[in-house]
Amino acid sequence: MQYRELGRTGLRVSAIGLGCAMIGNSTVEYATRIVHRAIDLGVNYFDTARGYWDSEAKLGVALEGGLRERVVISTKTGAKTRDAAWQHIQESLQRLRTAYLDNCHLHGLATAEDAAERTGPGGALEALIEAKRRGLIRHIGCTSHRSDVLIAALERFDFEIILVPMNIVETEPLETLIPLCHERGVGVTIMKPLATGLLPAPLALKWLLNQPIATAVPGASTLAEVEENSKVGHGDATLSAREVAEAARLRRELEHERCRICDQCLPCAAGINIPEHLGTDVMFDHLRTMGREGFLAYPWSRDTLAKDLESRQKAIAAIEACDHCGDCESRCPHGLPVMAMLGRQLPAFRDMVGMYGEMLRT
Ligand code: SF4
Ligand code: SF4
Repeated sequence: MQYRELGRTGLRVSAIGLGCAMIGNSTVEYATRIVHRAIDLGVNYFDTARGYWDSEAKLGVALEGGLRERVVISTKTGAKTRDAAWQHIQESLQRLRTAYLDNCHLHGLATAEDAAERTGPGGALEALIEAKRRGLIRHIGCTSHRSDVLIAALERFDFEIILVPMNIVETEPLETLIPLCHERGVGVTIMKPLATGLLPAPLALKWLLNQPIATAVPGASTLAEVEENSKVGHGDATLSAREVAEAARLRRELEHERCRICDQCLPCAAGINIPEHLGTDVMFDHLRTMGREGFLAYPWSRDTLAKDLESRQKAIAAIEACDHCGDCESRCPHGLPVMAMLGRQLPAFRDMVGMYGEMLRT
């Protein structure tokens, strides 16, 4: 495995990490096997969050028995206030069964105003600073789906690590954000490396290894996926002429298909969470990558199935209520055909509801 410096933190991290959102959806036994396989393959950077179902708890179980000291744990708090963030940190430490967090991010800064609120007086950042002073956290980072918001956050505080989406289609961070991070010694970690299942893993990860980043954190819901992803960090990352051409083709093809999760299409009059369905829908991504048979056979946690059944039914009702006002499309800066994309997802969403019912009955 290739290892890289994580900014000025002094940590050396595997160029391919593990995004742990997906392990929150499987049984604890299978999640443990995924984490252990990743470690066997040289992965030492684990990106989780209290918001990823019970991913923290499953990662904590998997790292028991002496593995914790071999890895870097990065988690997140979406809290706005100091008090709420302090509570989150205590809970994350408990769930992860650890005495310290290597990194804690302010999770999902939505706008510059949101960043100002959370880094301002009484904001969540104050709790992270205090936790670092007490040795409960070693580094402080922040995440956003928007480069401009991360730049605004870095103007307000000297964060040590950032997490931002980047992939063959979404290259905006390369323009200003990443050069700024290098200038300031900020560790650059990358989410959505496969554009939520739209890109082929080996090429997408190899492309990222050629960018000025510390680590990419693809999620993996199966042992086969964690093996495929991790092995990219083992070999020669030089892109062949054929791979460069294929990356360019994918960029052209997906430019107006890949949702950047920037929220600029909101609000939707029908209450549809457009960025979630088009850009971050983990269960829909699972169905797309596993296929129907694989989805039905997967060892899902029953809690995940029950929760997604409920939210999926609400999503279907909301999408069916879309009155085609067109506001989302006129606001989308990337020219996405939002209405058509949501319409294309509906049959799969209905199928998922049927499958959940079937799986929960067994
Ligand atoms: S067209 Fe449909 S999805 Fe778009 S904003 Fe209007 S109601 Fe919402
Ligand atoms: S649909 Fe467009 S505006 Fe809405 S989140 Fe995706 S990229 Fe942003």
